[in-house]
Amino acid sequence: MSKRDYYEVLGIQKGCDEKEMKKAYRRIAMKYHPDRNPDDPKADEKFKEATEAYEVLSDSQKRAAYDQFGHAGVNQQGGAGGFEGGNFSDIFGDVFGDIFGGGRGGRRSGPRRGSDLAYTLDLDLEEAVKGTTVKINVPRMAHCKTCDGSGAKKGTSPKDCNTCGGVGQVRMQQGFFSVQQTCPTCRGKGKVVSDPCNSCHGQGLVEETRNLSVKVPAGVDTGDRIRLSGEGEAGPDGGPSGDLFVQVHVREHNIFTRDGKHLYCEVPISFADAALGGELEVPTLEGRVKLKIPAETQTGKLFRLRGKGVTPVRGGNVGDLMCRVVVETPVNLSKRQRELLEEFQATLHEGGKKQSPQKDGWFEGVKNFFDDMKI
Ligand SMILES: [Zn+2]
Ligand SMILES: [Zn+2]
Repeated sequence: MSKRDYYEVLGIQKGCDEKEMKKAYRRIAMKYHPDRNPDDPKADEKFKEATEAYEVLSDSQKRAAYDQFGHAGVNQQGGAGGFEGGNFSDIFGDVFGDIFGGGRGGRRSGPRRGSDLAYTLDLDLEEAVKGTTVKINVPRMAHCKTCDGSGAKKGTSPKDCNTCGGVGQVRMQQGFFSVQQTCPTCRGKGKVVSDPCNSCHGQGLVEETRNLSVKVPAGVDTGDRIRLSGEGEAGPDGGPSGDLFVQVHVREHNIFTRDGKHLYCEVPISFADAALGGELEVPTLEGRVKLKIPAETQTGKLFRLRGKGVTPVRGGNVGDLMCRVVVETPVNLSKRQRELLEEFQATLHEGGKKQSPQKDGWFEGVKNFFDDMKI
């Protein structure tokens, strides 16, 4: 379930360069290569583990994602919860809690930090704009209460490992060299559980579902994330918990589309309103407002309602609401209406007036096109 830290797998420091990493991986790969260790499932597992770690860390994009979010940042098979290359900003670090210091570098001494978790939170546009508090259920690995995370049966405790004497490291002869490596018996922990806890089968961790209340600040948008410190998976062997990253996803809205701090909507208007001008009622997130449109308004014209957009979560001016008017052709015409329109049509262009600016211009263009082709 919970994976080992990739840096720890390769036995390197977090900040190490590519050359060093390559060397570390080569060393492990040579040692545990299936060709050299036929029928040894443990070696095979180590080889695969190291290869996976190297594949992620040798890709600078994946490595950045992993550094920021741990395994949650690179495990794409989760589907909706998967992170894409870490191009979203951490805007809530200061508000919601402290970053765990150190820990992630993955030295072998001491208990390891638990994995970070990702959770996708779907919000309506109104919730995202105004802010809300949402209750979520997050399944995660937590410390077993029966054994306090030690994995040992009640009344017993883990014993020092015999193989490594509790150090977690052993020296192995490899050809001419003597190599220090993680103790295969205790996997570097230095302790072994001989009498495992019944509740967690010696893992020290049990699955639980946490009910959390997430405060979503006003103005968030798709791609923003909220960090809940210490709400990730519990660390193995009593280590500190990882963080939970709540990834915001804003659902599509029936009326408004959003682009950053601005909102857009389409307002259908009648042919007569467009020609004569008048006052329209348009929707905003706070309710209806009146919008004056001038006479002879063309379809597609954008009207800006200042300050009726979104207040950005990172601060700054409130955005605007852009209303695009769409002129609608009337349908189900009565006899009288047809007569009026025919009468109207007959009067168009009287006295050589330009009365259909787009249409006139368009026909002019088509005429020139054919003239040029000499058809
Ligand atoms: Zn237990
Ligand atoms: Zn050991």
